[in-house]
Amino acid sequence: MAEKRDYYEILGVEKSADENQIKKAYWKLAKKYHPDVNPGDQEAEEKFKEANEAYEVLSDKEKRSRYDQFGHAGVDPNSFSGQGFSHFDLNDIFSSIFGGFGGFGGFGGFGSQQSAGRSPLRGANLRYRMNLDFLEAAFGVEREISINKDDICETCSGSKTSDGSKPRTCPTCHGTGQVQMVRETMFGQMVTSRTCDACRGSGEIIDNPCPDCRGRGVRSKNKRLQVKVPAGINEGEMLTLRGEGEPGKDGGSYGDLYIEIRIRPHPVFTREGVQTYCEIPVTFTQAALGAEIDVPTIDGTVKYRLKEGTQPGDVFTIRGKGIPYINRPDVRGDHKFRVNLEVPKNLNQKQQALLQSFEESMSDGNYKERKSFLDKIKELFN
Ligand SMILES: [Zn+2]
Ligand SMILES: [Zn+2]
Repeated sequence: MAEKRDYYEILGVEKSADENQIKKAYWKLAKKYHPDVNPGDQEAEEKFKEANEAYEVLSDKEKRSRYDQFGHAGVDPNSFSGQGFSHFDLNDIFSSIFGGFGGFGGFGGFGSQQSAGRSPLRGANLRYRMNLDFLEAAFGVEREISINKDDICETCSGSKTSDGSKPRTCPTCHGTGQVQMVRETMFGQMVTSRTCDACRGSGEIIDNPCPDCRGRGVRSKNKRLQVKVPAGINEGEMLTLRGEGEPGKDGGSYGDLYIEIRIRPHPVFTREGVQTYCEIPVTFTQAALGAEIDVPTIDGTVKYRLKEGTQPGDVFTIRGKGIPYINRPDVRGDHKFRVNLEVPKNLNQKQQALLQSFEESMSDGNYKERKSFLDKIKELFN
């Protein structure tokens, strides 16, 4: 094996770098060289492994100080734990980098390649989309959901075998799940690797597979879960149910279940954060004279005294009638409503006459805005 590069050099940080700098440098490399981003690229894969190894040591205080003192010999993964990346939770790191489970399908493929060394692998995260009514999101709701997911097979308790024996390492690929082939081509010898046929890439042979899970150790199950949705949750927000994802491999912990919230539109209300909004049509006379109107809020209608001379488009606020803050359900945002003026149509003769004489009674002083507008036009165009 080629001589190992210096871990600080691999991550491109100073020897004095702090935890944060190391993490940042690693994330940058991990994003760039992640196998799911560079499928089939051997060089990227090597770089990715290299970065993982460097990070695994430099992110651990104890290992880092051993490395600083003794170099690679101090932290050779084979010399102290034999577990490789055992405590090192890739899923966690990648869910932070890539904003969750989205891009990488739960790391199934990636995980199984890495599992040849029998390091515990955390189970896949799952995602569930929950549709809520506007008011359910506002006030919170308890929902039962039903999800289909792989879970540990009860028949064999995950051992994969029918007699409790341990799977043995595949003799064809020696547990790596891959076999190498040398082909003669016009360019010379080419070494390619492909999935091992004998174990179908799992690296292990099960002599007496459990009949119920056919040697997988897991079975697809339907699980019902009670989910408490807190008041004030908003569109696109995520609830996390820890440990409700799929089971880990080789002793790894369960993944998480993410519940993404979708809110159906409401016929009357919209919201922005904790503020609610609606529009209210009022008549021309209500606006001119002032009136007591019914304003819908998420608690039901409340009476509101519209002031005399209300203008179309005016917005009014009713305090504390909006959405509860998600962590403080007793504190709520405001409700705002905008006034739309409805101009009457299809007037009968009597109504027309009334309005006509009303208009004649009006003076410029009653229509200040209109008068100043007309004055402005005169100035501009005469
Ligand atoms: Zn089973
Ligand atoms: Zn094999």
